[in-house]
Amino acid sequence: MKVYDISLTLSESIPTWPGDRGAEFKKLMEVSKGDMASVTAIKMSAYTGTHVDAPCHFLENGYGVEKLPLNILMGEALVVEALDVDLITKEVLEGIGFPSTQRLLIKTRNSKQWEEGATTFIEDYVAISADGADYLVKRGVKLIGVDYLSVAPFQALVETHQILLKADVIILEGINLSEVPSGKYQLYCLPLKISGSDGAPARAILL
Ligand SMILES: [Zn+2]
Repeated sequence: MKVYDISLTLSESIPTWPGDRGAEFKKLMEVSKGDMASVTAIKMSAYTGTHVDAPCHFLENGYGVEKLPLNILMGEALVVEALDVDLITKEVLEGIGFPSTQRLLIKTRNSKQWEEGATTFIEDYVAISADGADYLVKRGVKLIGVDYLSVAPFQALVETHQILLKADVIILEGINLSEVPSGKYQLYCLPLKISGSDGAPARAILL
């Protein structure tokens, strides 16, 4: 069985959201320096690398990441391509013509960034418009995966997030689909169980 690891590799050079602290992995102890064990301390935003958003990221009374349902985070998922668009609108999604699915992952030109080992944040990434988000909700999508660090355009972050989170759609961001052909897979996405957190890093794979 082929396993696609669609998670980004966390390191200090991974692109982070403007204003976020950069990821920091500090060696507190190192065997090579005579210490008993090697021990790393991690400091980073919950939105570093591949991660999920919880409802409380954009909704005042939303719940935290530890309450996201595992039965949505795992299961049959559809990967579709939108390689030649700058914004994923309702029209683009209708044009793709995907069958009914609970989990939809959209491969765009963003995945090239990860393939090329990007180290700087770009603002003109491909994201989902508010009418695109509305359409996904109406189609019964319960988990949406995108291949850059936000599901929403850089200049319009709130509306797309709110539409999806209000409808209990799990948002998986920062996946690398560069190696993944479109089609049906089994998704396993396991965010860290952080009490009350508005987001959490996740390991995500497709079988
Ligand atoms: Zn987000």
